[in-house]
Amino acid sequence: MTEQPALRCEVLIVGGGPAGLFLAALLAQHGVDVAVLERRTAPSSDSRAIGLHPSALHALGEVGIAQQAADAGQPIRGGEARFRGRGLGALRFARASSDGFVLALPQSSTEALLEARLAALSPSALRRGWEVTGLQESAHGVVVTARRIAPRRTGDERTRSTDDDGVRNTSENAPSDSPEPLRAASPGSRSSSLSVQAELVVGADGARSGVREMLHLCTRGRHYPDSYLMGDFVDPTAARQDRDAAVHLEQEGVVESFPLPSRRRRWVVHTGNSVLRGNSPDELVELVRERTGNAPDPDTVSMLSSFTVRRRAADRLVTRRCVLIGDAAHEISPIGGQGMTLAWLDALDLAPLAARIDVVTDARDLRTVSGWLRFERSVQRRARTAGLIAAANTVLGRPTSAPLAVLRATAVRAALHTPLRHLLAWTYSMAWTRRH
Ligand SMILES: Cc1cc2nc3c(=O)[nH]c(=O)nc-3n(C[C@H](O)[C@H](O)[C@H](O)COP(=O)(O)OP(=O)(O)OC[C@H]3O[C@@H](n4cnc5c(N)ncnc54)[C@H](O)[C@@H]3O)c2cc1C
Repeated sequence: MTEQPALRCEVLIVGGGPAGLFLAALLAQHGVDVAVLERRTAPSSDSRAIGLHPSALHALGEVGIAQQAADAGQPIRGGEARFRGRGLGALRFARASSDGFVLALPQSSTEALLEARLAALSPSALRRGWEVTGLQESAHGVVVTARRIAPRRTGDERTRSTDDDGVRNTSENAPSDSPEPLRAASPGSRSSSLSVQAELVVGADGARSGVREMLHLCTRGRHYPDSYLMGDFVDPTAARQDRDAAVHLEQEGVVESFPLPSRRRRWVVHTGNSVLRGNSPDELVELVRERTGNAPDPDTVSMLSSFTVRRRAADRLVTRRCVLIGDAAHEISPIGGQGMTLAWLDALDLAPLAARIDVVTDARDLRTVSGWLRFERSVQRRARTAGLIAAANTVLGRPTSAPLAVLRATAVRAALHTPLRHLLAWTYSMAWTRRH
């Protein structure tokens, strides 16, 4: 029989993505005994989320790394809408937030900052290479079981298979996947399984949450008939001071571009209703060139992904002794890029409750505690609003007929030349979530 070293902690977080790492750092700051089980053996190299809204920067400030993020990132102070090579109008974030910008920083860099901060606060909190496979909750706490994941061999292939979120990646920054020393309950143990007893378990395990499934929580949602191809390239305009975003509302489908740090730029192209498999940087560059006249250099690609779009939300987020946050609780279309910010806002709401978990007397079920129910409602309300905005963005960028494309461009031009543009800037900078 396999030995199961028993570990105890107050709060166990399943998943060391942006939601889990951020919550763990917040709780460690509050002096909570927190552990994170993450199945990846090495940090992710995905640059999925690049947009840090002012609310996200405020959240990072709560764990003391806002300045580091700002130093590493690229401020985006506004964006221009374009159609058939002409500008339709621009919007600026100056009025919508005190920061006056949305910060562009690849998700892998953001996660690295969070991981370093957590390591400084609680060096053994993050345990990589453990996949949670079972969960048993009672009114007194939760017992979680996990199995050890062997590190992948180095020298990985250039193209990786579809990941957790239906995103296919081709990346030059292949994951390092270096062997990770096991930091289990009994140091030196090489056990293949682990059992953890916690007062509270937080499912921060992403869109395909296993915790959600183990808790038998239902979800509602839908798939959108939209597919995209995106890639990061060297940006020839990088020397300019005002590196803005651009949204090309073309008849064949939207093309979006965002400046990134390190003199790079992300291009995202709508590819109709079928995801392009076996895609190449040349294919993306050709689509960008045909629709916008811009031609990023395919030899400079550092990330290439194709993805489809889904919206899904769990009916309940709180059970007897478990709670969901981040993509596990609500997945929205990445168009408009709000998911990571939402995940951190969930964590900010949850942290004060989780830090007082010992105050909830032994026999109480969290579903009977008003603060926990308020938390659930507030997370769901915010996710619904973000989901509607993301859905509107997705629909706005679809391929359409020539007359409708002209009509769409005319409507956007009109909106950008009225005070409505301030409302758009407020929406796109997620100023509606501001709490500072
Ligand atoms: C193409 C794209 C672009 C995006 N752009 C933006 C953007 O610009 N701005 C923005 O705010 N958001 C953006 N998002 C959304 C953002 O990436 C997600 O909302 C965010 O990653 C959610 O964080 P999370 O921690 O909840 O989940 P995840 O990032 O999915 O992390 C979950 C973690 O849990 C681990 N895990 C899963 N199951 C287990 C298990 N059983 N045991 C242990 N560990 C487990 C996984 O390995 C993973 O590390 C984008 C998403 C995509 C796909």
